[in-house]
Amino acid sequence: MKILVTGGCGYIGAHTIIDLLDKGYEVVCIDNLSRSKSFVPDRIREVAGKDFTQFRIDLRDLPKLRTVLHDHQDIQGIIHFAAFKSVSESTRIPLIYYDNNLNANINILRIADEYQIKHFILSSSCSVYGNVQELPVKEDTPMSMPESPYGWTKLLSEEMIRAHAPNTETKCIALRYFNPVGAHPGGMIGEIPFSTPENLVPNITRTAIGLQDAITVHGTDYPTRDGSCVRDYVHVMDIAEAHRLALEYSMRKVDTDTRTMEVFNLGSGTGISVLELIHAFERVSDMRLSYTLGPRREGDVVAIYADNTKAKEVLGWECSRNIDDMMSTAWKWEQQMQKEGLSG
Ligand code: NAD
Repeated sequence: MKILVTGGCGYIGAHTIIDLLDKGYEVVCIDNLSRSKSFVPDRIREVAGKDFTQFRIDLRDLPKLRTVLHDHQDIQGIIHFAAFKSVSESTRIPLIYYDNNLNANINILRIADEYQIKHFILSSSCSVYGNVQELPVKEDTPMSMPESPYGWTKLLSEEMIRAHAPNTETKCIALRYFNPVGAHPGGMIGEIPFSTPENLVPNITRTAIGLQDAITVHGTDYPTRDGSCVRDYVHVMDIAEAHRLALEYSMRKVDTDTRTMEVFNLGSGTGISVLELIHAFERVSDMRLSYTLGPRREGDVVAIYADNTKAKEVLGWECSRNIDDMMSTAWKWEQQMQKEGLSG
């Protein structure tokens, strides 16, 4: 079965292609390499030990997209990763985010329709929930408004699909990731930073390798297990596998159950505190991390984590990698990036 993966040279896309190739799928990838490196396709081939087809095309270019689909009319499913993803950048250049993320989404949906592709999976995000009042976050937890233009592009992408779903034969699924972290265990594929990383895990590994000074733990007096904030981290390989499981679920359902978009949370279900993550890093690396304990930071949410029951029960998904797997693979990748001069 042939699957079109958009944004497949990026962090989550590359891990997903490796998983798809490993499970016997054929892959066609479209990525304009705006946020990835040109060596990534070959690296994926090397890690997977299998070939796939990569086109350097911008998804906003509809005529070029059509030429790919014209030549690959046996594509049966689309996994749509391609988007810009930096929350802070999106507040600085919101129009570029709306242009890229929404026009890419519109074009890929049009293509799915024109070429009668049966299965469509969207990369969505926990940022669509905004600042929620109830924990754990369920798929039907009342949302407040997204807090950034990036979050809005994800919510609007979902809304477009929700409106479109009753009018198409394509079965549409949105996967809302919480915080994907870690890397492929081989240490040859991982997240390549295109600006200073905003997330905690790359900040920990960059501090450990000497790229930045000590990190600050913002707040140690919150009502959590150890006083620091709690977030939901999931190993990127678990996130990658969820896409294949969602495709397989869609294949079982497509003849009976289309016309609505289905949504799944991809989170661990429990949450990990900032200090737990730091201690896990120290455990797996056998190093002391340079960090300081600071006051609370304005705007930080105390805790957010997902209820993942639906993904478990309906897709058969499990978070099979633990916090040590997340930190040890993230550390291995940071060291590899330093060797290759990729750290940015
Ligand atoms: P990434 O930046 O590593 O990968 C995105 C890829 O899409 C890049 O290779 C980039 O070159 C490509 N791309 C962007 N715009 C394009 C366009 N117009 N045409 C063609 N290619 C284009 O990001 P990622 O971490 O792999 O995230 C993948 C998806 O998951 C994104 O949609 C993101 O919003 C979503 N997501 C990511 C996270 C996270 O923490 N990484 C969390 C929640 C949701």
